[in-house]
Amino acid sequence: MPSLPDLLPTHSSAVAFARGQHVRFLEELKALLRIPSISALPMYAGDVRRAAEFLVAELSRIGMEHVRLIESTGHPLVYADWLHASGQPVCLTYGHYDVQPPDPLDEWQSSPFEPVERNGNIYARGAVDDKGQMYMHLKALESLFHAHQGTLPVNVRIILEGEEETGGEAIAQFLRDHPEEVEADFALVSDTELFAPSLPTLCVGLRGMIYTEIEVCGARTDLHSGVYGGSAPNPLIALSQIIAALKDAEGRILIPGIYDRVTAPDAAELASWKNLPFDEDVYRNTEVGAKELVGEPGYSVLERTWARPSLDVHGITGGFTGAGAKTVIPAKATAKISLRLAPEMQPQETFEQLKKRVERVRPRGVEVEVRLIHAGDPVVVQTGNRYIRAAQRALRAVFDKEVVFVRSGGSIPIVADFERYLKIPTVMMGFGLPDDNLHAPNEKFCIANFHLGIESIILFLEGVAQGEEPGREAPTG
Ligand SMILES: [Zn+2]
Repeated sequence: MPSLPDLLPTHSSAVAFARGQHVRFLEELKALLRIPSISALPMYAGDVRRAAEFLVAELSRIGMEHVRLIESTGHPLVYADWLHASGQPVCLTYGHYDVQPPDPLDEWQSSPFEPVERNGNIYARGAVDDKGQMYMHLKALESLFHAHQGTLPVNVRIILEGEEETGGEAIAQFLRDHPEEVEADFALVSDTELFAPSLPTLCVGLRGMIYTEIEVCGARTDLHSGVYGGSAPNPLIALSQIIAALKDAEGRILIPGIYDRVTAPDAAELASWKNLPFDEDVYRNTEVGAKELVGEPGYSVLERTWARPSLDVHGITGGFTGAGAKTVIPAKATAKISLRLAPEMQPQETFEQLKKRVERVRPRGVEVEVRLIHAGDPVVVQTGNRYIRAAQRALRAVFDKEVVFVRSGGSIPIVADFERYLKIPTVMMGFGLPDDNLHAPNEKFCIANFHLGIESIILFLEGVAQGEEPGREAPTG
């Protein structure tokens, strides 16, 4: 991890412009939030398109070029670029304009599609995930165009997705089929959060995953346990034995090879995690709500959830689960099992290791099939590149605090796609808060963070353009 870069000069006229536009910027965001662009529900398809067209109009108005809708089999993508900053890198900014359904409606204190300001927050579906965060990018670009006489300090491509909440394939397919149309040097994604209020945060790692199903078959058909108990194989017992052989009592995963590639985060990153405002008791009580935390011995909670693999069982089906008693020996039992992968791990290899282990511990008398349902690559962003350093400088200037580097135990598939199809690093600079109620009633976005986010993105892009003074470590991209 680099040492803390110098403060940026704070006399950015683009920042000054943005500060003069607080009211208008927020009113525009409200207009966008009023469009119920719920990608999951077919009856809102027209509204999803209306949100896309709103953004097309706004991108054209502020000075972006080649603004267009890219049609897909699902909801359209929105694309725009401005590529006249010769000698400067190309930034690809990403966001999504679709939202989750708002129900349960009766738990909202105000209507999800009529944004309301309360206690310094703006409440609406999509306020933080991701319309508010995506709109910061547009307003930062507008401020830059205004302050730089109709130009931008770096080259910018922007791509906005309308089916992120439904796991839509359109954007991954577009990246796969037309990587040259989004060619860039780095990506900027604002879909993450600050670790704590006012604490500038960069997310630099996401775990990968494999999601599998294990099916165990015994007899040809369900059998009576009074007649066959004692001779027939029982797939539920066999499945339980298989699952029990995947993890030991202490929480270590018992799949040979699983930890071979895993390396510890470097000492500086581990040290910075120790300094995060994280209280294990509060976490156990308020977030997890359990009497005791579990997991691999010898690792902190943040290490276990951010940098180590984990294995979970999501559901088991088979046999009889209704009221009363039925003495069946089921013919078949299945379990849904997933693994979260540390950054160095490879989904396909992990899947093969799991399959091998299951085959090895398979009890006599049953057949087992292990199926891969889906997989996602882990992501780790090297912190020693010029884009991360520029992001650090910008956030430090805006928040007047040291930037913390965090990882996330979950995944943002687009970031892995950028890495896989475009081979570029992503700066994950998000301004949500842990209690913003994503995907839940009363979703909100802190209004101050909306404006600070705009300022951070302005200074970030200006900082990338300024480059780094001689003597600093060479960019590693
Ligand atoms: Zn979401």
